[in-house]
Amino acid sequence: MRKPVIAGNWKMYKLLNEAVATALALKPLVTNANHCEVVIAPVFTAVKAVADRLEGSNIGVAAQDCAAESKHGAHTGEVAADMIKDAGCSHVIIGHSERRQFYGETDVTVNAKTKSAIQAGLTAIVCVGETLAEREAGNAEEIVQTQIIKGLDGLTVADTERIIIAYEPVWAIGTGKTATPEQAQEMHGVIRQTLAGSHGKNVADGMRILYGGSVKPDNISELMSKEDVDGALVGGASLEADSFSKIVNYR
Ligand code: PEP
Repeated sequence: MRKPVIAGNWKMYKLLNEAVATALALKPLVTNANHCEVVIAPVFTAVKAVADRLEGSNIGVAAQDCAAESKHGAHTGEVAADMIKDAGCSHVIIGHSERRQFYGETDVTVNAKTKSAIQAGLTAIVCVGETLAEREAGNAEEIVQTQIIKGLDGLTVADTERIIIAYEPVWAIGTGKTATPEQAQEMHGVIRQTLAGSHGKNVADGMRILYGGSVKPDNISELMSKEDVDGALVGGASLEADSFSKIVNYR
């Protein structure tokens, strides 16, 4: 049985006080959500305060990125995975499409960051997904397969226990255009097959694969009804405690 994960990506929204206030508002609304794991990802400057205020709750805290380099040193602007863990995070989002599109991340950096995260004892939410042009050219499956194979290259079976995959078609992020549940299921099936080939059937069967891209309270149930959809990575609709809690409490 794969326990679903509902994760909220707060992107570069929310000042410190706003992040803490939203986290505190969310806490009582999801306290009975034993059917899934709940994670929120505030900006770096807020993770510690949010994690402190959520200590002992059923909400985990994620950073939105981490350094590829794990050895402390002269890397101005970077934050090492163990520093993120030290600040109270349990998870880190890696390779979000906004980082791939605008900050030069590649499957190689995603792989290095994922290894750093695992080494620090974090769970890595590794994002994959094709652009609209890639889908229209008929290359979506191949692109996502490559992202999975290269992103998880060299990880052991034990390492994969600290991985969650998020399939986020780029054309569905922040656009209001959700993949249909059938499109999501199809790609999640491809990802599971790819994992079976790279890491074996047990790893593939146990891997949580989240869908992300304009998930809202009114489309989550249908997405979650699909066999290979094990949760969601939610952007816009996670910014308000009320709408995010409705997604968490999808059943
Ligand atoms: C995201 O940022 O990961 C995301 C899926 O955003 P949205 O839900 O707003 O499409």
